[in-house]
Amino acid sequence: MATLEIYNSIAREKQEFKPLNHPYVGLYVCGPTVYGEAHLGHSRPYVTFDLVYRYLTFLGYKVRYVRNITDVGHLVNDADEGEDKIAKQARLERVEPMEVVKRYADSFHDNMDQLNTLRPSIEPIASGHIIEQIEMIKQILDNGYGYEKNGSVYFDVEKYNKDHHYGKLSGRKIEDILENTRSLDGKSDKKHSADFALWKKAMPEHIMRWPSPWSDGFPGWHLECSAMSTKYLGEQFDIHGGGMDLLFPHHECEIAQNKASKGIEPVKYWMHNNMITINGQKMGKSLGNFITLNELFSGDHKLVEQPYAPMTIRFFILQAHYRSTVDFSNEALQAAQKGLKRLLAGAKTLLELDSSDSSSVDISNIKPAVFNALSDDFNSPIAIAQLFDAVKIINSVKDGKATLSKNDLTELQDLFNDVVFTILGLKEESKDNSDNNELVNGLMETIIDTRKELKARKEFELTDQIRDNLAKHNVQIKDTREGTIWSHEK
Ligand code: ZN
Repeated sequence: MATLEIYNSIAREKQEFKPLNHPYVGLYVCGPTVYGEAHLGHSRPYVTFDLVYRYLTFLGYKVRYVRNITDVGHLVNDADEGEDKIAKQARLERVEPMEVVKRYADSFHDNMDQLNTLRPSIEPIASGHIIEQIEMIKQILDNGYGYEKNGSVYFDVEKYNKDHHYGKLSGRKIEDILENTRSLDGKSDKKHSADFALWKKAMPEHIMRWPSPWSDGFPGWHLECSAMSTKYLGEQFDIHGGGMDLLFPHHECEIAQNKASKGIEPVKYWMHNNMITINGQKMGKSLGNFITLNELFSGDHKLVEQPYAPMTIRFFILQAHYRSTVDFSNEALQAAQKGLKRLLAGAKTLLELDSSDSSSVDISNIKPAVFNALSDDFNSPIAIAQLFDAVKIINSVKDGKATLSKNDLTELQDLFNDVVFTILGLKEESKDNSDNNELVNGLMETIIDTRKELKARKEFELTDQIRDNLAKHNVQIKDTREGTIWSHEK
């Protein structure tokens, strides 16, 4: 069902109409560079494409979902300069780069499981595909779209743009791109400022390096996605997703690399999720508003008023259309928490309702409206609004103010089961985290207040005892100028 609507609606980004490879759909999503804990910004693309994966699967497509892990080649400065992000973190933590990769890939997976995102079918790692990347560089060189200089290989953007349109995806013109890229300082090996690295010769101190025909070095960051999507999904596949921040240059470079090596357009549909802002601002380490998912889940961050359950975050994201911006605030998350509670309570009530001989309300529009919304470019907020309308009906049946026939009741039960749990991927928090967290916060407040009182009475032996006893449960308390704060180390 609804296959036509699906690809019609994805095509809204003025993309040409191209049918999906029914019944097989290839879905590639750019994964994380694993050099730190996943943050709020990471939750959006992976929840968004989890919805895409779940919905297409529900419609009966066989989806091969490939999401990579970047463990090499992503430099601190996206313009091919600076240290490798992972090598830098390894230096700071005084461990091997691969220890950094393992630690943060594990923690990423834990966070994604908490958000109830399904694991991808294949999760290739960039450093495991150096050979494929070298092969692709050779093809690009053979076809005349790259050049070697001092052991590094660069993509020749101007040459490519003569035959194809570089900037097609992001709607840019080569002149503007050239104007907006920093001019070369004379030290660069690049011919033009817009050229990007396919292979970089490693400096002597660079740890992550592999042999290649050009030098001991490492691949450029954009290359891995071209090489791995081609390997696992073929030279042309259906949907490529990622955050809007990857549109340019990352995805533009992917298209160029694929066309320059294979000669064909790699992706039928591009999908980009919009960003999350925090109180109207972009999130950034330098802005002091950088929040990791673990901090959100524990409430252990100065901008986070209370712990938020992972399902609250998931629901918060799904309540907005993926193309629109979402602004994080405590009020918005608390509203999402309440909304989710109401929706799940409705789903639970629905299972306990008795049917009547006939329905006093017309529910025939609800199901088509929900599926039309989901098939219309994965419009989850409209689908959720329809479900809330259904919750009103459910509650009035519960209160004896309306009736549902057996057929209608079954239809609603199936709808909630399919949409709320299978497609939107919502679930009751297993330990009901939100209630537990509320309780824990209340208890900790009592303990901290009591300790403060004891301190004022100079009962230091008792205050120390409280601190040490809490430490046995891995709860750390710290007296700061702003008051006593606590944290829980798992
Ligand atoms: Zn990518």
